[in-house]
Amino acid sequence: MTQKRAIVIGAGIVGLATTRKLAMAGYQVDVLERGQIAQGASVRNFGMVWPIGQPTGQMYDRAMISRSIWKEMAEMAGIWYGEVGSLHMAYRQEELAVIEEFTDRNPQYELLSAGGVKSEAVVKKGLLGVLSSDEELIVDPRQAIAAFPAVLEEQYDVTFHWQHVATEVSYPWVKAGNKTFEADLIYVCSGADFEYLYPEQYAAADITKSKLQMMRLVSQPNQWKIGPALCGGLTMVHYESFKQTPSHQALHDYYQQNHPAYLKWGLNVMVSQNGAGELTIGDSHEYGLDFDPFNKAFVDEMILDYLRTFADFKDWTIDSHWHGVYPKMTSGATELILTPEEGVTIINGLGGAGMTLSFGLLEEMLSDI
Ligand SMILES: Cc1cc2nc3c(=O)[nH]c(=O)nc-3n(C[C@H](O)[C@H](O)[C@H](O)COP(=O)(O)OP(=O)(O)OC[C@H]3O[C@@H](n4cnc5c(N)ncnc54)[C@H](O)[C@@H]3O)c2cc1C
Repeated sequence: MTQKRAIVIGAGIVGLATTRKLAMAGYQVDVLERGQIAQGASVRNFGMVWPIGQPTGQMYDRAMISRSIWKEMAEMAGIWYGEVGSLHMAYRQEELAVIEEFTDRNPQYELLSAGGVKSEAVVKKGLLGVLSSDEELIVDPRQAIAAFPAVLEEQYDVTFHWQHVATEVSYPWVKAGNKTFEADLIYVCSGADFEYLYPEQYAAADITKSKLQMMRLVSQPNQWKIGPALCGGLTMVHYESFKQTPSHQALHDYYQQNHPAYLKWGLNVMVSQNGAGELTIGDSHEYGLDFDPFNKAFVDEMILDYLRTFADFKDWTIDSHWHGVYPKMTSGATELILTPEEGVTIINGLGGAGMTLSFGLLEEMLSDI
């Protein structure tokens, strides 16, 4: 029997998760990636695998499955990962109320008193309580997205075709310039560049994009560690999981009334530390199909000002500023799965949780392939 073939377009995390699952199912996979390496949202993020942000039930379970696959893949690739967990700090009663309700509903998490916090990076003054979780896992996305293709090539005989832009899909063929590839199954995982293939499908979908501004601080001196990834009250406004608590609205209202600019610019301020000791900091959210190509300095300043309310570091020297763009569903859906023609599947729209959810999503989608 001849081996079945699949083509995956895009070598971001969604394309890599799709490739992994197809290859494990015995498909001979060709991956077409426009760049010399993937440089989209999957390398521009915090590298946070973040179950605590997912609502209880299917999405949380999906995140936890992803988490175990991340560990497996990182070990195979020989790259660093940190099972550091996370801390959400409360300096206001509204924040503490959300944490109390959240820990009541989700007993795997703990409410710590200010004195119970071990991280030296946490601002203790005025601290009322802290939500502590052991689940969050950090990777350096630049390392992971660069290293996983080699794992897939070695373990499963996948072929990556770098600098191959898929210019046309017409099942069973994909054209990349003057080359034509043929397969039994085709997956389009093109991230924010979604307009180029099947533009009508996207025009009809409830999808937009978000631009996020990010920064990286230099490696901290003497291997100083912040420990868990850190965040404040704005993160509890932002993530779906916290919206299930009765006090969420009051917390949102507090920020709306007192810090409307934070909500206007979609601030969700978090920090994670990678294996090299650098601190990844973000972020803001602007929505639309096209963006100003330039970063706004005042947005970065707002992020840093808010960060200083709950975190302090040894060295605040900024190494780099950048932004990333991801597609996001406007309908509240957690992803976009389309079948524009038989044999072709589009996977996109995982929003701000693609690192957390892709591996788990593909386990579900391709469970019986
Ligand atoms: C700043 C920022 C912070 C984030 N933080 C987190 C986080 O901490 N945790 C988390 O879970 N999620 C996070 N996310 C979300 C996550 O990064 C995305 O959901 C995820 O990376 C999307 O993956 P993707 O594969 O769909 O897209 P991408 O990574 O953009 O990959 C798409 C790839 O397809 C290629 N491509 C496109 N068109 C073609 C074509 N025609 N032919 C060939 N190749 C093509 C592109 O070159 C690109 O490499 C963040 C996102 C951003 C932007």
